[in-house]
Order: sequence, then C-alpha cells, then structure tokens
Amino acid sequence: MSKVKSCIVCSKSITNRRCDAKTCSNSCRTALWRLSNAGPISIKVVISTLQYNQLKADADDIGVLINQLIIARSIKPFNSIGGSV
Ligand SMILES: [Zn+2]
Repeated sequence: MSKVKSCIVCSKSITNRRCDAKTCSNSCRTALWRLSNAGPISIKVVISTLQYNQLKADADDIGVLINQLIIARSIKPFNSIGGSV
C-alpha cells in the first residue's frame, strides 16, 4: 500500500494527480512556480533539532530539499489569499 503524499504548499493530501506530483492543485503548482522564479534572499532560521528532523523527514518523503519545503509551507496558494475557501 502506498503512502498518501501531502502537497508541498498547503499540506493537503494529493489525490488524482501524477505519481510524481508535489502539489495538490493547479493553484498550489502556480504558487510554487511563482516562488521558484522570484529572486532569492537569504535568512537565518533557528529551529530545534526535533523540528529539523521532522522537516527533513517530510522533505525526504516528497523528494525535495528542506529549504524548498520550508518555503512552500510558508506561502498560500494565490487564490486563497483574502478569499473564502
Ligand atoms: Zn496544495
């Protein structure tokens, strides 16, 4: 039995998408694309070892780098900002 994957952007379950999908919807895919095309800045984040290990495990589960996971979880899909979902 395969493990249910979670969307890298909103953490919802990914269903009815390609097996290599990292997002649950076109909205989340677009949000992720916008992020990857924005100019980078560098920030320092302090987290516990426990938090790091959980983030690393989550990132490994979906095959992304830990910074990609943190970035994706920090944004909302474009159409959910300020609207009713
Ligand atoms: Zn999503």
